[in-house]
Amino acid sequence: MPGFEFFGEEERKEVNDVLETGILMRYGFDGPRKGIWKSKELEAAICKTFGSEYAQLTSSGTAALTTAMAALGIGAGDEVIMPAFTFVASFEAVLSMGAIPVLVDIDETLTLAPAAVKAAITPRTKCVMPVHMCGSMADLDALKQICAEHQIILLEDACQSIGGTYKGKALGTIGDAGTFSFDFVKTITCGEGGVVMTNNKDVYIKSDAFTDHGHDHLGVDRGADLHPFLGYNFRISELHAAVGLAQIKKLDTFLAIQKKNNQILRSYIEQVPGIEFRQVPDPSGDSFSFLSWFLPTQVQTEKVIEAFKEAGILAGNFYWYANNWHYIRKWDHLKNAKSLYPLSEAQQNAITALQTSHFEKSDAIMSRCISTAISLTWTEEQVHEKGAKFLQVLQSALS
Ligand SMILES: *Cc1c(COP(=O)(O)O)cnc(C)c1O
Repeated sequence: MPGFEFFGEEERKEVNDVLETGILMRYGFDGPRKGIWKSKELEAAICKTFGSEYAQLTSSGTAALTTAMAALGIGAGDEVIMPAFTFVASFEAVLSMGAIPVLVDIDETLTLAPAAVKAAITPRTKCVMPVHMCGSMADLDALKQICAEHQIILLEDACQSIGGTYKGKALGTIGDAGTFSFDFVKTITCGEGGVVMTNNKDVYIKSDAFTDHGHDHLGVDRGADLHPFLGYNFRISELHAAVGLAQIKKLDTFLAIQKKNNQILRSYIEQVPGIEFRQVPDPSGDSFSFLSWFLPTQVQTEKVIEAFKEAGILAGNFYWYANNWHYIRKWDHLKNAKSLYPLSEAQQNAITALQTSHFEKSDAIMSRCISTAISLTWTEEQVHEKGAKFLQVLQSALS
């Protein structure tokens, strides 16, 4: 799954180009930078690779989500519908905008259940944010239709699904805007970084300025730029962009390896009676960075986790139901509104209400789900060995 497994000569070369000039910033210094513009080059490569009209790099995936929401006009009191299974960054970004995260159930796609989204819509709903978890996608046609019917913004958190597609289009390019993260464990990495993708020029222009203190970037002298609106500093550095530029050139290789390893591993696991796999709305668009599978019951799932631990093969197998980062069950800091600074009353009320909310449908899915991260470094022989070992441990744990 993570591009850091393939860090090498190419990354060093790109970073060295930047070190040669010493211009670590993405803007200005036109003379001394000697034509080296890694951030711009990476943005162009992102547009070309993923078929997006526009791309704005940011300092992280969280910053990309925040920027996209700002550019889409999502702010104080606006409700953003998001799944109860995601990464904490999704609600962090919503809260940082003064907006209200509305958490709803997922289904067997491991992302937003369209019916749960429909049921959660209120007059304050401004945005639906599907999170394409673990390499694969939400039911985007259903969500697009709901958004169109209610005139709601669709913002895709595709941070974990770089290279995935839905009906021929790249995940992250289908909604009003979409984001990737290039943090250290994502499919391609910059070390730290993220991107907002959009086909809407206005959203792009706003994102560009928002990530750089509101600078309009219209003139040749950045110091003389005007500030049409407030912004922050969510800039990426040239060093980080340079790493990403080397990585994006290897994306096709990463995806091919993921697909091959994923399918070999699956061929073993699917021999176990009763095991099912995550539903993928467009199976040909899976990025294959994870293989997510379900046991028939929670008890059996816990037993398998124990058996994997005993057999020394647990690493890389995630039981999200018991995980601190990804599922609502363990987000006590959110549910108890443990903020360092005062939150708005509306935010406070909405998140403390989660203490008594139930997510039975999600629980019934997540408590039976194991996601296996697919490594880029496994040789074909090693995947077969791993698969055989999985099969043996599963059969004896479930017998
Ligand atoms: C990684 C991730 C993010 C945030 O990315 P950072 O670059 O770490 O800030 C957001 N959403 C999801 C689903 C992620 O996996």
